[in-house]
Amino acid sequence: MFDAHAHLQDKRLAGREREIESLVLASGISGVCTCGTAPDDWADVEALPACYTFPVYRAFGVHPWYAGALPNEWDETLKDFLLRHPDAAVGEIGLDGIRSTPPADSQYGVFERQLDLAVELNRPVVLHGAKVWGLLLDRLAPYAGKLRGFLLHGFGASRELLQRFLDLGAYVSFGGAVTHPRCVRAREALLAVPDDRLLLETDAPDFFPDDGLPLTPDLNRVNHPANLASVLRHAAELRGIDASTLEAQTEQNARTFFGATSTKND
Ligand SMILES: [Zn+2]
Repeated sequence: MFDAHAHLQDKRLAGREREIESLVLASGISGVCTCGTAPDDWADVEALPACYTFPVYRAFGVHPWYAGALPNEWDETLKDFLLRHPDAAVGEIGLDGIRSTPPADSQYGVFERQLDLAVELNRPVVLHGAKVWGLLLDRLAPYAGKLRGFLLHGFGASRELLQRFLDLGAYVSFGGAVTHPRCVRAREALLAVPDDRLLLETDAPDFFPDDGLPLTPDLNRVNHPANLASVLRHAAELRGIDASTLEAQTEQNARTFFGATSTKND
């Protein structure tokens, strides 16, 4: 199993590394992509692989929630991190419709600057488009043919919109939403993604799955990558296939998308 989207650098997981490590090793996870969200967590993302024995792949980027208050030359700093790590992706980047700030204008500029960097450095891109997937499609489309690859994380919009993204070459990853019966759109979209474009994720420490395994009791709704087993179980049941088949397919897709070949940290 490969967790295509998590935030292991999140402060809610700090000090829990040993517990997470043992759960992850017991669950058979073969890789986790940990996504940066803002300049002030990039150094933590950079340091993460040293905290774990399972393979951790890195993505550096500015999440749209943090696009409104960036230091000068943030993009040069981002480029430095990416150049230091030739196997890192650009993410988590995109557009957001959940929060009312920052305004769309600053989100667009920061998003497009990062897409330019992904093209320039030939890196895969991990995308956030919550509640504004249509806007994201419009802004992404001019870049789609130039990008090495892009992944829609936590997708939850219509089948029509999904098909337009797929036509542009999208990979799509699904997480805890598919374990919750009320998340109808995510569950419907899960059924419409071709076998060779599908990935699975936890988005840890968020989106605790319906029947996930808790960390120690005081953190029982804090998600972790070992709960990918729950996402896999539900996704396989919904798609009507064997869990081991889906596991192998989604792991292969993740390795293709991220260019992830190693089985240990550098
Ligand atoms: Zn995320």
